[in-house]
Amino acid sequence: MHIPVPGEAEILSLWERGLARHPIDRALLLYAWTQPDLPSSNFPDLPLGTINKALLRLREICFGPRIIAGIDCEHCDTRMEIALDTGQLLAGINEDDTSSKFDNTPAEFEVSNFRFRVPCSRDLAVVSGERDFKAAAVKLLEQCCVEHPENSGTTFANLLVEAEAAMEKLDPAADINLSLSCEECGHSWLVDFNIGTLLWDEIDARARAVLAEVHSLAQAYGWTEPEILALSSQRRAAYLDMVDV
Ligand SMILES: [Zn+2]
Repeated sequence: MHIPVPGEAEILSLWERGLARHPIDRALLLYAWTQPDLPSSNFPDLPLGTINKALLRLREICFGPRIIAGIDCEHCDTRMEIALDTGQLLAGINEDDTSSKFDNTPAEFEVSNFRFRVPCSRDLAVVSGERDFKAAAVKLLEQCCVEHPENSGTTFANLLVEAEAAMEKLDPAADINLSLSCEECGHSWLVDFNIGTLLWDEIDARARAVLAEVHSLAQAYGWTEPEILALSSQRRAAYLDMVDV
């Protein structure tokens, strides 16, 4: 997959288009950047892992492979800093090659004669209003059911554990978990790593920083936004230094 490198003007344009959107749609907007040649109409139906893998690569292209994140210990509240690497995260989720085969068609599996497919963004959107974690998981499973026996005595809640394990196996990048342990209290736990949210926050920060620079230079010299964005980063930094004095 060749992903074009977004320049500052393009970062600003992505930011502008994503600002008012729901986080699920922001992830799809960023995914669309990685797939300029494909029609975006079927992106909401792609397996979540397909989106996440592309966003990890996009993150690497925009801001490098190293991710430093601050997380509070869920037991003692101590702030910890964790260092991640997009390459390692991608290697971890590509370990068995099952996922790549299903990149564009949601893989299906069976549990107790119920047939399911792995979740996509459209499914996430349907359950996103659900506050209760377990209820959301059951609703998601129901959403992903493509075939079920009539009058089986089983409920979706009963199938949850087995179905989630199958989903994890078929699309490991759909839900990236980090296993953490606190140096202060020794507590170990799992956190959800959401590349869509992380990348959006970084694009938001970058876009606002660029706008602040444009603002300073426009105010000082009367240049237009395209003129300022066209300056090399060295020239822009030199002018900003003089303006700040
Ligand atoms: Zn702790």
